[in-house]
Amino acid sequence: MESLAGIWVTVYIGLGSNLADPIGQIMSARTAITQIDRVRELAFSSLYHSAPMGPQDQPDYVNAVMSITTDLLPIDLLRCLQGIENDQGRIRKEQRWGARTLDLDMLLYGMQCIELPDLKVPHPGLAERAFVLYPLSEISPHLQVPGKGNIADLLASCPTNELKKV
Ligand code: ATP
Ligand code: CA
Ligand code: CA
Repeated sequence: MESLAGIWVTVYIGLGSNLADPIGQIMSARTAITQIDRVRELAFSSLYHSAPMGPQDQPDYVNAVMSITTDLLPIDLLRCLQGIENDQGRIRKEQRWGARTLDLDMLLYGMQCIELPDLKVPHPGLAERAFVLYPLSEISPHLQVPGKGNIADLLASCPTNELKKV
């Protein structure tokens, strides 16, 4: 696996699940992420229940955010995260935002802005999603989001959307 040769960055990952024991899926994913070579966990938020985005004929989600430090390149880390989604039975369907056992989104990679065909960072939905902003601010209350401002301001202008701590 490629690495950035000794430069370790802080990366935030959004975790979500609404199928097949969502809390168990999130906890398994946390373990799998910490077991990736060249990754160390820094912090893990509370778990939150949230209403689904998009199609409403699916169960509520369980969401969390974790921070890690790594020297993996962003695209290599994304491939690792997608491998964990697949290992936990993620089936990719045509329908956007459909039910899934596990969704791992790379929210932030240090202060970098990335615009690759397969990887946009900061994650495009970050600033509008309560189920991302609340757990993110819990583990990093003074965070600056590149191009979007500080987390406290983002949170202040985001409705809670009936987000509940588990
Ligand atoms: P959303 O991205 O709006 O939360 P989603 O998580 O349901 O929707 P997926 O089907 O999981 O979307 O992913 C679609 C594609 O998004 C993936 O194939 C991946 O290449 C791409 N992608 C772009 N930026 C990111 C990112 N920051 N983290 C994870 N995947 C990303
Ligand atoms: Ca997502
Ligand atoms: Ca995703």
